[in-house]
Amino acid sequence: MTTYPMAEPDREIQERARRFVDDELIPHEVEAEMNRGRIEQQLRERHHRLAVELGLYAMNMPRELGGQGMTTFQQVLVSEQIGRVTNGLGWCVHTPPAWAPAVVTPEQLERWIVPTIRGEQHECYAITEPGAGSDVDAIQATARRDGDDYVLNGLKWHVTSYNSATYLFFQAKIEGGPNAGAHAMFFVDKDTPGVRLVREPAYSHTYPDSHAVVAFEDARVPASHLVGAEGDGLDFTYEWFRYERLMIAARCCGAAERLIEEATAFAKERVQFGEPIIAFQAIAHMLADSITELWAARLMTYELAKNIDRGVDIKIQHAQCSMAKLYASEMANRVADRAVQIFGGRGYMRENVAERFWREVRVDRIWEGTSEIQRSIVADQLAKRGARALAG
Ligand SMILES: Cc1cc2nc3c(=O)[nH]c(=O)nc-3n(C[C@H](O)[C@H](O)[C@H](O)COP(=O)(O)OP(=O)(O)OC[C@H]3O[C@@H](n4cnc5c(N)ncnc54)[C@H](O)[C@@H]3O)c2cc1C
Repeated sequence: MTTYPMAEPDREIQERARRFVDDELIPHEVEAEMNRGRIEQQLRERHHRLAVELGLYAMNMPRELGGQGMTTFQQVLVSEQIGRVTNGLGWCVHTPPAWAPAVVTPEQLERWIVPTIRGEQHECYAITEPGAGSDVDAIQATARRDGDDYVLNGLKWHVTSYNSATYLFFQAKIEGGPNAGAHAMFFVDKDTPGVRLVREPAYSHTYPDSHAVVAFEDARVPASHLVGAEGDGLDFTYEWFRYERLMIAARCCGAAERLIEEATAFAKERVQFGEPIIAFQAIAHMLADSITELWAARLMTYELAKNIDRGVDIKIQHAQCSMAKLYASEMANRVADRAVQIFGGRGYMRENVAERFWREVRVDRIWEGTSEIQRSIVADQLAKRGARALAG
């Protein structure tokens, strides 16, 4: 039960997601951790089916396309609950690219987006390269028009969920022609000749989804696979960044809540020197700081979601998504570190929730723009628009 005021339908969605996470997902965390992130296929199918039945799958997509059409605030409430579970088990609540319906062609909608909403297809994003991370504009991947086709070349890193995807969004720069050097994005089916898995490196977290290195070697796609127009590519990426930054903030709030609950319960029960360790000020203050910071991050995240639902200026949204992601991800990392400390040696065991979150929330300060990049975005908008516009 939270104290934040919300309408009954919102509260109902929050409770539905919470029960799903508590009853169906959390019980399988340790099994996943000990098994390279995997759980039994039957269980995975059950989680997918329940996510659909509970109305959580494709919550961000329009109802007329088969999605749930939730408000941004409702999506934040669900994502927060998803953040309470480790090992990527919450990824069964999939959010397809919400920016797509407005910009794709009817054929692209039918071929990729609607099947993704139904859970029959899965996308992944191939943007980052060995020489282009924070500086997305430095990508060297190319798309060359050749008759009715484009020929795609490039090497992409960290392509999340490549192992479960059926198609990729591939970002490149146009080679030759009037729009040479412009960004462009393409739908690329994974089985397109010339798309090659180079390797699937191991990462800190234990997730079933890989983060692959993928090579595009003269991969040929029809011109109808271009998303929008030549030159539009970066706009879609920025829209996706904004959405994901907000949802990362929400998931970090969920992670922090779980950590605080678990660490508080342990601190009340664990006795050393004849007293529960919560009686020691050093431990109590870590918990007090954690819950205080969680409240701040949560209020920020909720208000931002409501601002988006109210349709505030897109530049303000951009800055506030960065502020929320920056603050909530840094907060969750501090909370996870404290939780490990409170659990002592137990907190360093992989079967302990604090140890898993400690590794898992680390990436929230890196992906979808590092904390340093978020600060640059915020400072830039602050200089242009002033403090009242961003936080007034
Ligand atoms: C688990 C995981 C999953 C990912 N999934 C995907 C995916 O699905 N698709 C995809 O395309 N990408 C994905 N990424 C890539 C991710 O978006 C990048 O890692 C991230 O944007 C940072 O880029 P980089 O790793 O190249 O670091 P770099 O940009 O090389 O940064 C290195 C360091 O320099 C700092 N730095 C860089 N520029 C500045 C600056 N101007 N001012 C101050 N500091 C700066 C950074 O903050 C960082 O500390 C994923 C990454 C990870 C770790």
